[in-house]
Amino acid sequence: MSRISVDEARELWLRGDDEELQRLAGEVRARYHEPNHATYMVMRIINYTNVCVAQCDYCAFYVLPNQDGGYVLSREDVFAKIDELLEVGGDLVGFNGGFNPRLPLDYYCDLFASVRERYGDRVEFYALTVAEFVFLADRARISYAEAAERLRDAGVYWITGGGSEILTEDFRARHAKWKYTVADYFEAQRAIVEAGLNTTATMVIGFDETLDERLEHLQRTRDFQDEVGGLFSFLCWTYKPYGTAFGGREISPQEYRRWIALSRIFLDNVKHIRTSVLTQNEDAFRALDFGADDFDLPIEDEVTQKAGARIDLDLEGLLAIPRRLGYEVEYRRAERPTAPVASRLTS
Ligand code: SF4
Repeated sequence: MSRISVDEARELWLRGDDEELQRLAGEVRARYHEPNHATYMVMRIINYTNVCVAQCDYCAFYVLPNQDGGYVLSREDVFAKIDELLEVGGDLVGFNGGFNPRLPLDYYCDLFASVRERYGDRVEFYALTVAEFVFLADRARISYAEAAERLRDAGVYWITGGGSEILTEDFRARHAKWKYTVADYFEAQRAIVEAGLNTTATMVIGFDETLDERLEHLQRTRDFQDEVGGLFSFLCWTYKPYGTAFGGREISPQEYRRWIALSRIFLDNVKHIRTSVLTQNEDAFRALDFGADDFDLPIEDEVTQKAGARIDLDLEGLLAIPRRLGYEVEYRRAERPTAPVASRLTS
């Protein structure tokens, strides 16, 4: 099967039945992975601050700087959360917080350096999302390249593609006009890759985005991977509407796994397609039959929990589900960058 165009993807979405999507996604998945094998991580998202000036209308998490209820976690708070993660057998932290104008770049560098110093190789962490990275570089009035270097020097290996939602300028203007432009997002991600850091692609579906907007997001992601590279994986999750200004309803599990399949087929240059246990719970595992090969078991994420996500801490019970579906599941650790920047860009 050769690479499909946006028009072919649209046709497949509108006319293809579940079996066809499943079969084609399975073909692309088999280029990278054993058919009945999947990998997973146990992780905790640490929301270090809920203060944010971006005011995205789909967010139930943030408070404005002068509102009650704002917080910034201390190092001790962060260490306590990491210790709990280690106790349940996890070793991956995802730092994710609001655009807090009172936090300088040094806050982030000190925090990440202290985590690296205290935990060494026992814990890996996704330091920030691209969205937060854009904010903190702009606020510090330094280039994206310099910000990436400063973070790398503080022991950071990963800045994920989180906070992307739908990467079209129209979507951003409708829902998150103070967050970043799509051009900024990809310029920042390019600087992250060129600094030798690892990154990922993400997507969130289920707002009011059109099919064309979803396809534009996939096209931009595939183009970035062709031109720049460095996208370790693609994770798609679903919007949780509860408590948000925008509101709305959740999409069905069937629509989710169909979109995972289409993403697997379209993103033929991304090795890992990840399914979201955080937002789909037990239903997430069916997406393994639709092209996904990897997932997290999260033990906390205040951002999505405030909007209605439910976290199940029975990790063995969760792992029994893909096993019943016929998958051998294997724990994996977050990889560190292994190659010099120049060869990463040309490989
Ligand atoms: S989604 Fe992120 S950037 Fe947007 S308001 Fe919420 S915390 Fe702020």
